[in-house]
Amino acid sequence: MQFTTLSTFPFPLYTHSMDIQTFDDLKVALDDRYTDMDLLTLEHAYTYAKLAHEGQARSTGEPYFNHVYQTAIKLAKLKLPAEVIAAGLLHDVPEDTERTLDDVKREFGDDIAHMVESCTKLGKVKYRGEERYIENLRKMFVAMAEDVRVIFIKFADRMHNMETLYARPEEKRLRISHEVMEIYAPIANRLGMGEYKGQFEDHAFKYLNPREYTWTQHLLEERVRTFGPAMNRALPKVEQALRDHDVECLDMHGRIKYCYSLYKKLQRYQNDISKVYDVMAMRIVVKDVADCYAALGILHSLYTPMSGRIKDYIAQPKPNGYSSLHTTVFDDEGAVLEFQIRTLQMHEESEFGIAAHWQYKERSPAHSRKVAWMEEFAKIQKELTGTDFMRHLDDMKLDMFRDRIFVFTPKGDVIDLPEDSTPLDFAYAVHTEIGNKATMARVNHLAVPLDTALRSGDMCEITIDKNRKLPNDDWLKFVKTHHAREKIKDALRVTKRSFLSSMLKRAKNVTSSEK
Ligand code: MN
Repeated sequence: MQFTTLSTFPFPLYTHSMDIQTFDDLKVALDDRYTDMDLLTLEHAYTYAKLAHEGQARSTGEPYFNHVYQTAIKLAKLKLPAEVIAAGLLHDVPEDTERTLDDVKREFGDDIAHMVESCTKLGKVKYRGEERYIENLRKMFVAMAEDVRVIFIKFADRMHNMETLYARPEEKRLRISHEVMEIYAPIANRLGMGEYKGQFEDHAFKYLNPREYTWTQHLLEERVRTFGPAMNRALPKVEQALRDHDVECLDMHGRIKYCYSLYKKLQRYQNDISKVYDVMAMRIVVKDVADCYAALGILHSLYTPMSGRIKDYIAQPKPNGYSSLHTTVFDDEGAVLEFQIRTLQMHEESEFGIAAHWQYKERSPAHSRKVAWMEEFAKIQKELTGTDFMRHLDDMKLDMFRDRIFVFTPKGDVIDLPEDSTPLDFAYAVHTEIGNKATMARVNHLAVPLDTALRSGDMCEITIDKNRKLPNDDWLKFVKTHHAREKIKDALRVTKRSFLSSMLKRAKNVTSSEK
């Protein structure tokens, strides 16, 4: 095993092929979870798309078909169901070929055709500055609420477009990079898809801030050159020690911090890279939680841990659901090494996020640690928990967000609320003071009563009255969220109490002055 070398750094450069990729290559990317039926569907989609795109070329000069093929490969790497991969192969057919959506529907059925259709619609979402930004974000969220699988296809599609962006004209490069930085990366982050978020940001960073990108890249390269040997020294030693203690190591690999993520962190540390300990880390993947702690103990018997750098994100996961054990140690030659220990499931969830839940996999739901907000959804949608969860995936018309709505602030921030929430619920979700002082609401620029039911995709604006002291106790009759209700009660209670105490004080003053 070798620590990630400079040639594959920070992630492999895309090399395009002028030959049409074969179906056998796609089969190699599929593991044994796919059935013979799945393979038939995929081969059908492969042949259909290849024919439909025949003679078309991309701006890189390669056959157009290779773009949809690479999109499918990325979906296969996420281990998504065959229908999603097939839709990936077909995603540009209605838009860019002679074949229509109806043709696709006839050949592949409603489910696949519907995914292709949603993808085509989302293709019209473009970043054109602040104003259109909110509108576009909204479209993405609404599409996601309808069928989250479409977002996976859109992500894979866009990732390949980013890998070949160098072949596009300058103006397109900038517009697309903006779109990726402002829309795709934040959504990937929200869905817990760490790998997609990191790669989206790095690709976009390269075009948006070339100078900063190059500077950070050099810093990274220098680090790898300086500390890589220590990592390579540690690998066999750690492997041996784990074996000696019967801890099965499923995988061990080096990871280098994403360029943009390092750049942002450096800004918080006065550009002093020596203060950033996690530029490079070694990941140890083991089979269960007990082995995670065992591996941590073994590491600490090999090396001296740095105090204050042991982090137990298994006992206390990060708010986005991330769990692993982290430790920083000194090796015999004084080099500083960070280790991240996790189970395979923790690893896949941190890289693939919500996509990890869409894989065909027998998995006890008790062990599946969903990202925090997913957990909330899961609670609301009881049918998704329990053993039913895996069966539901087959239906695929599953709607993760059915009971939640996404409402936008005028600045484009997304607030998620339960269905039927009102502008007041929204106001309290943004800030207690905005709730307490709310006087008027506008939804999509139209004035509405404060008890109006909001819908997914609405943009909501609250007018406040700075002089207003108290929420109205009538509000308790129609707010939908527990949060808003509690805040209203709090405000009313506090005022009652301070009213009483001022009365008491006055009464005391009166008594004392009477003396
Ligand atoms: Mn495409």
